[in-house]
Amino acid sequence: MEIIKDPAAFQKQSLAWRAEGLRVALVPTMGALHAGHFKLIECARQMADRVSVSIFVNPMQFGPGEDLGKYPRTFEADAEGCRKHGADAIFAPAPGSVYPAGFQTTVHVGGLTAPLCGKSRPGHFDGVTTVVLKLLLLGQPSVALFGWKDAQQLLVIQRMVRDLDVPVAIMGVEIVREADGLALSSRNVYLTPEQRAEAPRIQKGLAAAKKAFEGGEREAAQLLAIARAPIEACPLMRIDYLEARSMETLEEVARADAGNTLVAAAVFLGTTRLIDNVRF
Ligand code: AMP
Repeated sequence: MEIIKDPAAFQKQSLAWRAEGLRVALVPTMGALHAGHFKLIECARQMADRVSVSIFVNPMQFGPGEDLGKYPRTFEADAEGCRKHGADAIFAPAPGSVYPAGFQTTVHVGGLTAPLCGKSRPGHFDGVTTVVLKLLLLGQPSVALFGWKDAQQLLVIQRMVRDLDVPVAIMGVEIVREADGLALSSRNVYLTPEQRAEAPRIQKGLAAAKKAFEGGEREAAQLLAIARAPIEACPLMRIDYLEARSMETLEEVARADAGNTLVAAAVFLGTTRLIDNVRF
């Protein structure tokens, strides 16, 4: 497994693989890798001849006052995990080589970025789409894998790739959870033991809403009330958003629709903001 820091060298390697006729998969990450990331790498391994993992804490997707400075950085363990799970290359650039002096381009996806995390984190998705388009151009994958944990991110990237005719398939991978239901996240390390004990309430609420949907409930207001109950019962938690939206347009829906409804939540535990979702 190669560790490549220089963007031009990464692109050269990627183009050489493609010229050999190899199928290349890319797994973009911000490091602090966990079993969720490793599932993406394993899926990539099954789909491609060469697997590249990018590890880059992208400053452009963090807002002022967010956790860019304290975001966990665990490169040695990440590299070991990538090797173990079958990556062929790690691309780990320095911020200055991704955004050199004079950089002034932003990729902006329209409507899909307006609600949910786009509303809570202004500019976040511009940072995501700008870096992901760069990573796709450098990594030259035929498939790039993203987790459903960040459902809005996945939908936004699918939209960008369609709108800009980027020749890559975007694949979504199911959310990997702890035994108690909490979605794995690099940010879970910020939780105090007390907060960690309460954190599974987010998934419990979402799972209860899904169960009600499967039992025939279609009113979004009812489903959201069910999802909200265990979260609101916890004094340590503050809901940032909890909404039912169309998976196609991310517009709010009054009635849930099989195959097309996303119920997404962002919840603060202290200063730590966790996201999770279910799809019907
Ligand atoms: P991050 O390093 O948090 O930017 O995540 C990199 C990729 O891993 C994104 O596509 C995430 O959606 C995905 N990911 C993060 N956590 C999970 C999880 N628990 N299950 C599945 N995918 C995940």
